[in-house]
Amino acid sequence: MGGVKINTDTEVLDEDEQAVSGLYAAGELTGGLHGNNRIGGNAVADIIIFGRQAGTQATKFAQENN
Ligand SMILES: Cc1cc2nc3c(=O)[nH]c(=O)nc-3n(C[C@H](O)[C@H](O)[C@H](O)COP(=O)(O)OP(=O)(O)OC[C@H]3O[C@@H](n4cnc5c(N)ncnc54)[C@H](O)[C@@H]3O)c2cc1C
Repeated sequence: MGGVKINTDTEVLDEDEQAVSGLYAAGELTGGLHGNNRIGGNAVADIIIFGRQAGTQATKFAQENN
């Protein structure tokens, strides 16, 4: 129900809402996607959509910064 904040590219945001370069997150350790709570059953959609996005973005970052 809480956790680090991410943007639509799954980049982790700092206290100033700025993306932390190279740090991606998805799923249970993120918070705020559904507001202050989460409607039951929505975690599965959350982890599949944003898990895939985080993997894609992390791969892209690694390739571009190799
Ligand atoms: C009893 C219960 C019922 C639920 N029912 C539903 C439901 O009906 N519908 C729904 O949408 N959601 C449900 N949820 C919520 C949903 O299961 C979770 O939100 C979801 O599984 C979170 O996925 P995740 O990949 O973010 O984290 P997790 O599934 O917790 O995956 C994290 C993984 O990381 C691994 N790990 C941890 N530390 C390390 C480490 N240091 N190195 C390597 N690996 C590590 C863990 O072993 C684990 O496999 C339920 C949750 C519970 C507990």
